[in-house]
Amino acid sequence: MIIGVIGGGQLARMLAMAGHPWAHRFVFLDPAPDACAGPLGELITAPYDCERALLQLAEQTDVVTFDFENVPARSLEFLAGRVPVYPGARALGVAQDRLHEKALFHELGMATADFVAVAGAAALPRAVAELGLPAVLKTRTQGYDGKGQWLLRGPEDVAAAGRALGDQLALLEKLVPFDREVSLIAVRGRDGAVACYPLSENTHRDGMLHTTVCRPGDALQAVAEAQTHRLLDALDYVGVLAVEFFQVGTELLANEFAPRVHNSGHWTIEGAETSQFENHLRAILGLPLGSTRARGAHAMLNLIGAMPDAARVLAISGAHLHDYGKEPRPGRKVGHITIACPEQGLALPLELLAL
Ligand code: AMP
Repeated sequence: MIIGVIGGGQLARMLAMAGHPWAHRFVFLDPAPDACAGPLGELITAPYDCERALLQLAEQTDVVTFDFENVPARSLEFLAGRVPVYPGARALGVAQDRLHEKALFHELGMATADFVAVAGAAALPRAVAELGLPAVLKTRTQGYDGKGQWLLRGPEDVAAAGRALGDQLALLEKLVPFDREVSLIAVRGRDGAVACYPLSENTHRDGMLHTTVCRPGDALQAVAEAQTHRLLDALDYVGVLAVEFFQVGTELLANEFAPRVHNSGHWTIEGAETSQFENHLRAILGLPLGSTRARGAHAMLNLIGAMPDAARVLAISGAHLHDYGKEPRPGRKVGHITIACPEQGLALPLELLAL
C-alpha cells in the first residue's frame, strides 16, 4: 500500500516508521523542503492547499491521512472522491474550531470549563464581565502548543490580549484549577471497533507538552473511555484520536481533542503491545486493531529546542531516544525519550529531567 500523509512532521515520520515493517510506502505533502518525515518516503514540497500537489498525492496513494489539524478543510474536500481520506473532514472541521468542539462535547454530555464566545477584541470586556477572572482567552482557530492563547488575571492582561486578538473570533474560558491534565488516546477502525490506551498524565511548560506518564489502572479510565467512545461514534471516526481532559477532584472536564496521533501517546512505541502509530495505520487501512495493553508504566520526556548528548541519554538504563532529525531551534520539538517507570513514585529518573 502507498499511504499519503498531509504534513511531514515528526508524527508523519513515526507513522512511516510503523508502516515500514509491513512494506508500506509513504508520500508526504509539506511546504517545508526539509520536512523531517522526508527521508522516510517521497516528499511533495508544496502548500497544503495546492491543487496540483493534492492531485499528485491522490494519484500516487491508496489512502490519505494527516499529521496535524490545521490542514485546510478544503484540501480534504478536494481529495474526497479521489482517494479515501481518514479521519474524515467532519472530525477535522470540528477540531479546528474550539467553539464547535466545545458544542459537540456538551451535546455528548461531556463537561468542559465554563466559557463564552468572544467576537473579537470589542466583545472582550463584556465577556470578562460575564465570566470573571482569572480566565484564558483562546482564538477559535489556528491555535496549538499554547499559541493564540492569553492568560488573563487582571485589567492589564485584558487590554494586552485584546490588542493581540484584534478581530479574530475567540473563546474566553474560566481558568481551571486542575489537579491533573490527562489524555486518552483511542482508535476506531473502519468497522466501528474501538480500543483505548491507558490514560496518560501530562505536564506542560509554556503551553507545550513537557512530560507524559502512563500508569495503567487509573481510577478515571472508565469515565474517559465512555466519553471518548461517544465522541468517536458521533464523528464516525476512523483512526487514532486523543482527548485532553482537566481532572478536578474526581471529575473530568474535556479541553480539546486532536484528530490524529498525539504527542502524549509516544510512550506507546516501546510501552504498549501496539503503538498508536501502528494502530492508526491498521484503522485507516481497514485492518483489525492491535492490542492497546501497556507493558507496565511508562514515561516520556519531550526534547525541546536541541537534542541532548545521545551517549548521556543512552547511559540511563532503559531509556529510548528518538531524534526527529530536525534543525535545533528554540521552542521546537526535536525529539523525545521514553523509559519504563515504577508503578508508583518518581516517574522519570532525575538524570532525564536534568537533560
Ligand atoms: P490547549 O491549547 O487548550 O490544549 O491549552 C494548552 C495548555 O494550556 C493546556 O494543556 C493547559 O495546561 C493550559 N490551559 C488551557 N486552557 C486552560 C484552562 N481553561 N484552565 C487552565 N489551564 C488551561
